[in-house]
Amino acid sequence: MTYSTIIPVFAGWIAGLLINYLADVLPKTRRLSPPSCNQCDARYQGLDYLTLTKCGNGHSRSWRTWFVQILSLSASVSIWYVPPEKLGYWPGMILTVYLGVVLFIDLEHRLILHPTSVAGAIIGLISGTLTHGFTDSILGGLGGFLIMLVFYLIGIGVARFRARRMRLAGLEPDDEEALGTGDVILVTILGLTLGWPLIWFCLLVGILLGGAISFLIVLWLVAKRRYGQNALMMFIPYGPYFIISAYVIIFFPGLVSRLLPA
Ligand SMILES: [Zn+2]
Repeated sequence: MTYSTIIPVFAGWIAGLLINYLADVLPKTRRLSPPSCNQCDARYQGLDYLTLTKCGNGHSRSWRTWFVQILSLSASVSIWYVPPEKLGYWPGMILTVYLGVVLFIDLEHRLILHPTSVAGAIIGLISGTLTHGFTDSILGGLGGFLIMLVFYLIGIGVARFRARRMRLAGLEPDDEEALGTGDVILVTILGLTLGWPLIWFCLLVGILLGGAISFLIVLWLVAKRRYGQNALMMFIPYGPYFIISAYVIIFFPGLVSRLLPA
């Protein structure tokens, strides 16, 4: 630790505030509006929002707020000392903020918003071009889009099959979607960022990760007898797993190359 660590600690904290702010206001208003309490909608007064103080009615900030601050600070210090090759610290931090915002909005609202997608396409194309060149970045975006399009169409088929099964079983079909169009857009952006062929590896890791964690959740539910045979018909929200997978590939390439056979 040297005095220059102050820079990534400070920048990481600011990046955390930015991720929290965007994840707070964008799902509510779809624009950069003044922040308000997630529980009572009261506007924050003065610097209360930035200092993570309770709202006027005494509601504490969410656990996510603190989690994001700590995670963002740690990511910043880590990127400062081991910056991704060809990308460097500051573009790496911009990418971190983008992926963080999309991750937490997807986790909390199961939403991929259009404003974040437009920003993401620009950030993805620039960072992809810096690391893999323009052609590979475009090919990655196109590859991600086409693979997800196939999954999307299969998902529609499965959803129809599932609705028919539920009706036969005398149940009201729900409108659960295997894959939303938001996921297709998200993977296109991740494809621009990672380039071809890394995007396809990112999808593979994301699907394995999502499958493994969902399997553990189903086992736990079955063990607690909270779930019957319907457990096998549970859909997995893949967006967050793709984001986590992309993050590891970009910022911890050493870990990835150790997993891949030489
Ligand atoms: Zn409140």
